[in-house]
Order: sequence, then C-alpha cells, then structure tokens
Amino acid sequence: MAKLIDGKAISAQIRAEIKDKTEEFYSKNGFAPGLAVIIVGENPASQVYVRNKKRGCEEVGFHSEVYEMPEATTQAELNALVDKLNADEAIHGILVQLPLPKHLDETEVLLRIDPSKDVDAFHPYNVGKIMIGDYDFLPCTPAGVMALLERTGIDPAGKKCVVIGRSNIVGKPMAMLLLHANGTVTVCHSRTKDLAAVAREADILVVAIGRADFVGADMVKEGAVVIDVGMNRRADGKLTGDVDFAAVEPIASYITPVPGGVGPMTITMLLQNTLTAAEKKAVK
Ligand code: NAP
Repeated sequence: MAKLIDGKAISAQIRAEIKDKTEEFYSKNGFAPGLAVIIVGENPASQVYVRNKKRGCEEVGFHSEVYEMPEATTQAELNALVDKLNADEAIHGILVQLPLPKHLDETEVLLRIDPSKDVDAFHPYNVGKIMIGDYDFLPCTPAGVMALLERTGIDPAGKKCVVIGRSNIVGKPMAMLLLHANGTVTVCHSRTKDLAAVAREADILVVAIGRADFVGADMVKEGAVVIDVGMNRRADGKLTGDVDFAAVEPIASYITPVPGGVGPMTITMLLQNTLTAAEKKAVK
C-alpha cells in the first residue's frame, strides 16, 4: 500500500517558514512583500482562487491588493493597471488570474508584466530562464510538485520520470524541473503511442491531463511514485484527480491524494515567489 504524500501538511510547513522569513524581512526592510492580483469578470472558479490567494497572503503577513475589474474592461484599461502596478514600489508580485474574458489578449497582458514581478513565471523571459536552469521564479504548480518530492525525501536523480501532459503551465515546466534535478524525463501527450507502456517505465509518474481517473493500475509500475496534478469535478461536485486512486494506491510506493496533494502547494509556491521577488528588490 502506498504512503500518502500529504500536500496539506507540507504546504502548512512551508507557509510557516515563509511567515517567519517575512517577519525577518519586515524587521530588516520596514515593508512587507506585496502581491497584486487582477481578476476580470465573474468566473466563479477564478473568484475562489483569488480569494484563496488573498487569504494566503494574509496568513504569511504579506501586503495584498485585489483588483476586481468588470467583464467589460478594455485591453487598454487592463494594460494601464499592469503599468501602474509595474511602477508601484509596494508591489513585488503581479498576477493576472486566467482565463481572461475572450475579448482580452492574455499574451499581451502577460508580456506587459515586469518580469521581475512575474510571480506566476509565465513571461517568456522567465520561461526562458527556466529552460536554461537559471531561474528566479519557478512556475507554481511544478514547483509545488518538486517541493513535495524533496520534503518526502524522493530524489529524481537518475530516476525514470514520466510526465503525462505538455501544457505550458504544468507539463513542460514540470519536465524541465525534473531534468534539472537529474531525472531522465519522458513527456507524453495525446499523440503518444502505447501510453500505458511508457507510463509503466516510470519510477516517478507525474500526471497532468485533466481527465478524471485516467491513470489506472495498468499504467503504473510496482513501487512507483505517483503525483496527480489533475483537478476534475465529478457530476456530484466532488473533486477528483487524473489518477484512479483506489486502483493505483496498492501498487505505488507513494501517491498524492486529490484533494490534499498538489493542490495546496500551488498558492504556497506563489507566496514563495513573491517573497523571492521582494528579497531581490530589497538588496538592489
Ligand atoms: P491542459 O492545458 O488541458 O493540458 C492537458 C495535457 O494533457 C495536454 O498536453 C494534452 O495533450 C494531454 N492529454 C489530454 N488527454 C490526453 C490523453 N488521453 N492521453 C495523453 N495525454 C493527454 O491542462 P493543464 O492546464 O496542464 O492541467 C492539467 C490538469 O491539472 C487539469 O486537471 C488541471 O485542472 C490540473 N491543474 C491543477 C493545478 C493544481 O494546482 N493542482 C494547477 C494547474 C492545473 P496534447 O498536448 O496532445 O493535447
């Protein structure tokens, strides 16, 4: 039976460390790290994420600002807000909650954020730095996975790592971070042939597809570490991952539950990035 990787507990531990470092930072510099979150429109899921980000900031002692803009916001208005926050000394991290309403250009907005305040690490400058392995900010979800592995004592070095999913937000940066940690990495996607056979080779299997219970026992090697990034809503409203937990738990050595695995880590890593951004500004 696999051991559970408790993302809630590990996240709480890291947040407590960030809180301590924030106190230290404040007493040294006289100001707190500041995060600004912009949300446009009324997507209910986005509203929950933004509320949780604000709560996370309060928990660790950050200054936080939430900008709730109406659905009818124009590109020029959104750009102007980003410009204002880029110039604001009290703000060290800027996050634009995605998705934006269809009439707005996400790429244009993300490119406009000062890369030194890009705590989501979505700006091509930061994406490039991640590729090189010389990064300031790690993309939050893959960074959360790496922190879970590290704090569980699982070292990817020399291990066969298989990532299922190649999105810019999760799969691709995940593969890069595992590679930087000296894993031997294979990235799979919807066109991968005989996916189950490739997945079965993994010592560490990271799944980020967005399909409930997609990974079953036939896709997991005995003793593998299984990390489930998926967050899917069942018809009854319950949250479930991309891995069939009941089928895979008896085979894996470690497994993340959903909820309570990768999910709680993402905002924690955002807080970590904001602290890093503030620390970089403070030493300038
Ligand atoms: P995405 O942009 O939709 O990408 C999904 C990826 O999965 C694509 O690369 C796609 O392949 C691949 N895929 C889809 N069906 C497949 C199949 N049958 N076989 C193999 N590969 C398949 O999704 P995402 O943004 O990466 O998110 C993935 C999941 O993680 C979602 O459930 C999302 O809710 C969750 N998520 C969780 C967190 C968190 O904080 N825990 C954060 C972000 C995302 P192609 O490229 O070939 O289309």
